[in-house]
Amino acid sequence: MALAMNMNWREDQEVIELIKRIKEPFKMTNRAFKAEDTMVTVDGRSIGNGHFGVIAGPCSVESRSQIVEVAKAIDGFGASFLRGGAFKPRTSPYDFQGLKGEGLTLLKAAKKATGLPIVTEVMAVQTLKDHLDEIDIIQIGARNMQNYDLLKAVGRTNKPVLLKRGMSATIEEFLMAAEYILSEGNDQVILCERGIRTFEKYTRNTLDLSAIPVIKRYSHLPIIIDPSHATGDAKYVESMALAAVAAGADGLMIEVHNNPEHALSDGKQSLTPKAFGEMMVKVEQIVKLMGKQLG
Ligand code: PEP
Ligand code: MN
Repeated sequence: MALAMNMNWREDQEVIELIKRIKEPFKMTNRAFKAEDTMVTVDGRSIGNGHFGVIAGPCSVESRSQIVEVAKAIDGFGASFLRGGAFKPRTSPYDFQGLKGEGLTLLKAAKKATGLPIVTEVMAVQTLKDHLDEIDIIQIGARNMQNYDLLKAVGRTNKPVLLKRGMSATIEEFLMAAEYILSEGNDQVILCERGIRTFEKYTRNTLDLSAIPVIKRYSHLPIIIDPSHATGDAKYVESMALAAVAAGADGLMIEVHNNPEHALSDGKQSLTPKAFGEMMVKVEQIVKLMGKQLG
């Protein structure tokens, strides 16, 4: 199927089998371009097209015991992927910036202990080049959603990409960021709504749950919800996670820490393994109700 960007192409030209005119600026990301839901699979674990995937783990990788302990706990409660930041985009340059390469080594140890594939953020093209082999799903953070060089670089890899919505990005800008990745040849993209900035102060961000049905309408890509960064408070994570499943999300990203009070980043919004386990019992029931399967 040709992507008819050149308006001189005409349906009566014999060499052209099919022309689809897509009025939105995002083309390959558009459901009009591909009707079936995209499913992203790593090591037999899937997100999208009826598969509900839960990505869980600490905000930052802090130590071997921390990441291995959390990985074992979330694995036991039905998570499909382990998250953990090694390269951290922090608002303050004086805050913990992540263990970098050492953090990736520790993530690999946790993967070895549990079999959980690794989701971790990459902030720079050079880091991507240096560490691509060690990552199963490349996370592009909210702050980098419009870093076009980085988007093009991940678009040229063969690894799935978890693209987080920028904190002030419209849904169209979000889908255009995904378009950068698809246009470079990589269609293994998972979208992640993580809250947008509004006037509200009682939550860290405002979770835009309506992004789920809107994105489902306009795009074939899977959309997951991160209620941890959206609310910024562990007290609200479960409610928003359950609402996301009921609204048709394809998965969740949840921050879990074995000792939230002493976490080096985002402790306030991190669930304990116990709270995560209790949430997962409810998540599983709604996933079933929605006619989907976990993992
Ligand atoms: C994260 O997932 O740890 C993170 C930094 O998220 P965001 O880019 O959504 O702020
Ligand atoms: Mn975080």
